[in-house]
Amino acid sequence: MTGITLINPATEAVLQTVEHSSLEQVDDAVARATFAQRAWAALPPAERAAALRRFATVVEGDIDNLAALEVANSGHPISQARWEAGHVRDVLNYYAAAPERMIGKTIPVAGGIDVTFLEALGVVGVIVPWNFPMTIAAWGFAPALAAGNAVLLKPAEWTPLTAIRLGELALEAGMPPGLFQVLPGKGTVIGERFVTHPEVRKVVFTGSTTVGKQVMAGCADQVKAVTLELGGKSANVIFADSDLEKAAATAPYAVFENAGQDCCARSRILVQRSVYDRFLELLEPAVKGVRVGSPLADDTEMGPLVSAAHLAKVRSYVPDDRQVAFRGSAPDGPGYWFAPTVLLPDSRTDRVAEDEIFGPVVSVLPFEDEADAITLANDSIYGLSGSIWTRDLGRAIRVSRAIESGNLSVNSHSSVRYSTPFGGYKQSGLGRELGPDAAAAFTETKNVFISMD
Ligand code: NAD
Repeated sequence: MTGITLINPATEAVLQTVEHSSLEQVDDAVARATFAQRAWAALPPAERAAALRRFATVVEGDIDNLAALEVANSGHPISQARWEAGHVRDVLNYYAAAPERMIGKTIPVAGGIDVTFLEALGVVGVIVPWNFPMTIAAWGFAPALAAGNAVLLKPAEWTPLTAIRLGELALEAGMPPGLFQVLPGKGTVIGERFVTHPEVRKVVFTGSTTVGKQVMAGCADQVKAVTLELGGKSANVIFADSDLEKAAATAPYAVFENAGQDCCARSRILVQRSVYDRFLELLEPAVKGVRVGSPLADDTEMGPLVSAAHLAKVRSYVPDDRQVAFRGSAPDGPGYWFAPTVLLPDSRTDRVAEDEIFGPVVSVLPFEDEADAITLANDSIYGLSGSIWTRDLGRAIRVSRAIESGNLSVNSHSSVRYSTPFGGYKQSGLGRELGPDAAAAFTETKNVFISMD
């Protein structure tokens, strides 16, 4: 049996060892899930809804514990971790309304009636990354369960603790055994088996674009449904006519939240040249004001990076001889700390302006006019998120429509809402999660014609 020893990223203390599931255990889990799913899908919709509400209530009762696990395992600030656990409850409650609303159509045809049914797929495999372990898991498992599926959840190697706890809470809440199983382990073992196992009918993958492409290629072999939520290099576009003070005060939180380990991080700040210098003057105190420190403190806004390996990767983008515009603070001593860092690349093709660094590093670049802003914002293989700051309503609409990205906010850095769709353009992903249509993404549409003869 293999496993992983988990390290607290804020202290470098050893937390515990977690055993990894074997291939045989995955295959057993698929068999149990297949069995449990048939009974689950056959339940009256109101009973499935009630079961999901009970699950949400049990999560509610465990918020402090789930948050403490995320603080220790992932280094998330405690206030953020509590929000994340509450978000899991909210996502479950939102999709608890779905079983009774899986509404098909009646379609006018000659000679009879034609109806469609939204039928559960069967067993769904959900593969999640380490940056938001419990929220991203919930975006997959809650609508999938609501639509009548069983779910196998594979957490990331570094951050399995909240997922394991959610698996226990599901059983405590009375969810049928086998219906929702958590399988910690390696992506190349557990994740790949989700892709190759013929009884897993859909894979929801959130993670890097490189692995996402492999998952998509593997799913193609069985024509298996796949949702991909991948990387980002989102733009925060600031026009000269915007509320510059507010844009500068909020920009650090749009990229340094979760220590920049956020697929939606606005890691490119694009500023109209006429206000570029003034914006930087305003940005500097805002960056220095970000409270970086112990995740256990209630007022901490940014914690450490998730691991030593990830810290080394982020550091490689800012070597000692790299010129830095200005930096915030970070604690000394143990822990994988990296201070919020602002870079002013000379070129739009500098790797810091193109690569997803996934750490607290932001590049600020000037643009000339609206057309140039759109070109620069779209000059990326990614298209996940972004913000537009302007007081001109017409410009806000034009630029929102022109930027090739799945989730934009105007004069704000709106975070993800469970009630609105989320997902990426271009190499940021395929399909959408959350919002009113997510449960339908875990169904097949069946069409039935009934003759009047
Ligand atoms: P990763 O691709 O290395 O791993 C993601 C998950 O896939 C992990 O659980 C891993 O074990 C598993 N995996 C690895 N190899 C696999 C394989 N061959 N087959 C199946 N599964 C495999 O990503 P990461 O480093 O954990 O996460 C960071 C990335 O996730 C960033 O690129 C970030 O932008 C992206 N992300 C995207 C979103 C989004 O919603 N678009 C949200 C969060 C993170």
